[in-house]
Amino acid sequence: MSRYTGPSCRLCRRAGVKLFLKGDRCYSEKCAIARRNTIPGQHSHRRRKFSEYGLRLHEKQKLRRMYGMTERQFERFFENASRMAGQKGHNFIQLLERRLDNVVYRLGFASSRAQARQLVSHGHITVNGKRLDIPSALVKVGDVIGIASKSRDIPIIKENLEVASARTTPEWLELQAERMEGRVISLPTREQIDVPVNEQLIVEFYAR
Ligand code: SF4
Repeated sequence: MSRYTGPSCRLCRRAGVKLFLKGDRCYSEKCAIARRNTIPGQHSHRRRKFSEYGLRLHEKQKLRRMYGMTERQFERFFENASRMAGQKGHNFIQLLERRLDNVVYRLGFASSRAQARQLVSHGHITVNGKRLDIPSALVKVGDVIGIASKSRDIPIIKENLEVASARTTPEWLELQAERMEGRVISLPTREQIDVPVNEQLIVEFYAR
C-alpha cells in the first residue's frame, strides 16, 4: 500500500491522539486535537465502540501512522523484532525508534518525521561522517548523526535546531546543536520512548 498523502490532522483525529505529523503546529493551539478531538466525518459525534480486533487494529494503525510507514515496511520491522530475543513489543518499538529518520526528528534537525525522511533521502544527513540517504537505516550506540557540510546553511535546519535547543532531547541521545550533530549514547528503553500505544495489542494483532 502506498504512503498516505491526505490531511495529516485527520489521522490524529481518527487515532484520537496527537501523532505529531505537522511539526511546530502540533505544539501550538492550532493543533486540531487541541481544538476538537472528534473523529472525522459526518458521524463524528458518535462514541466509538471497538471490537477486540478493532482495538488491536486501531493501535497498530496509530503507531504505523506516527512513524509514517507503509503497511509493508511496518510489517517487515515487526518480523525483524519477532526474531530478536526479549519482549516482542518492546523490541518492535525500539527498532522503530532507531530508524535514522526518527533519530533526525528526535534530535530536532527536522520538525516532523516526514520532514526528517525528506532530509535523509535528499542526502543532507551523515552518520559517522558519511552521507546516508536511507531513512529506515538503524542507528547503533556510538553513532554520530550530523548535517552534511553542504547542507549546514539550509534555513529550515537552522530554524529547527534553534527550536530543538529549547526542548528536551531524549535521554538516549546527546545533541550538540552548535556542531549540528548528535550522538546515540544508548539504545532507547521503552520508558524513554514517548509513544502512547499499547504495543501488546499490536503483538496480538499480528499473532492472529
Ligand atoms: Fe496531529 Fe499535529 Fe495536526 Fe495536531 S497539528 S492534529 S498533532 S498533525
